[in-house]
Amino acid sequence: MPDRVVSPKPTDEEGKFELSLRPKRIAEYIGQDKVKQNLKILIEAAKARNEAIDHVLLYGPPGLGKTTLGNIIANEMHVSIKTTSGPAIERPGDLAAILTNLHAGDILFIDEVHRLGRQVEEVLYSAMEDFALDIIIGKGPSARSIRLKMPRFTLIGATTRYAMMSAPLRDRFGAVYRLDFYDQPAMETIVHRSAGILGVAIEPEGVAAIARRARGTPRVANRLLKRVRDFAQVRADGKITAAVANEALSMMEVDALGLDEIDRKVLKAIIEKFSGGPVGLETIAASISEEADTIMDVYEPYLLQLGFLDRTPRGRVATKRAYEHLGLKYPESAQDRLL
Ligand code: ADP
Repeated sequence: MPDRVVSPKPTDEEGKFELSLRPKRIAEYIGQDKVKQNLKILIEAAKARNEAIDHVLLYGPPGLGKTTLGNIIANEMHVSIKTTSGPAIERPGDLAAILTNLHAGDILFIDEVHRLGRQVEEVLYSAMEDFALDIIIGKGPSARSIRLKMPRFTLIGATTRYAMMSAPLRDRFGAVYRLDFYDQPAMETIVHRSAGILGVAIEPEGVAAIARRARGTPRVANRLLKRVRDFAQVRADGKITAAVANEALSMMEVDALGLDEIDRKVLKAIIEKFSGGPVGLETIAASISEEADTIMDVYEPYLLQLGFLDRTPRGRVATKRAYEHLGLKYPESAQDRLL
């Protein structure tokens, strides 16, 4: 989905721009209050004992601030952070190379940690638990295993798929936090903060309008803000009012709730092609030529949050709210499908 304006995944050119908007300290990190409170205690306690903090697992939909939190923890602990991702660590040797380069207290951040291979995962177990690397040297009958001690480090894992992680890996994280979609006040604070950093003139109603359509996702909020800023420059006098924001967002086909063309396609497919469901995710995906994984990670979480979709044992079902939002008549017989 290259040009999808409400995609919670980063685009390539966004890297630099995200960096400047990324909060660096925990005090700048907006929302997620429970997670922040817990993290503060974890950090304070580790600092007081002069130890590395426990391994931390962050999970939740993309764009909610997992990578940002990882970097904040490193800043607050005054340690270095090395960032990689599950699919990038192909062999146990790759992981060993990364781990042996860490210093005491350092943080290793692994994004998409649910995508680590089995063998790599097994090496990670003893590294996380005993701070030791079990390496096999040689092949066949002469092969032997040696154990290398390594400094105490902290692993921060991030994932959009908690359920796909193996239980042994999950169990090795001392602290597990789930990030949720942000509420409207938090989203407004984020838009306001980003507008300040980018030097954009914006009225409070403009802030509210962008926040409302950003799917409770900071990355989407920042992207919409940037696009609306361009629109304001070209079509208005540069200032973002509610009217300018709404006009710009409608032009991008982002509706009042932040749904775009593809969200509507998913809902319409369930309603029109499969009589409202229940229908399996793979079938929905095939019918609109999208990948099932993408639907599950990127579109579905927000549709579930809005109460537009229900997950039943027999598949996905479109709810009455979804029909209403699309301006379609809800068949009364549909109630039975939810049972
Ligand atoms: P994830 O790793 O969960 O996909 P990121 O940490 O990369 O998400 O966050 C995406 C962008 O959203 C960041 O660049 C940052 O600018 C912004 N962001 C995320 N969380 C917050 C927050 N709590 N407060 C302010 N901005 C945030």
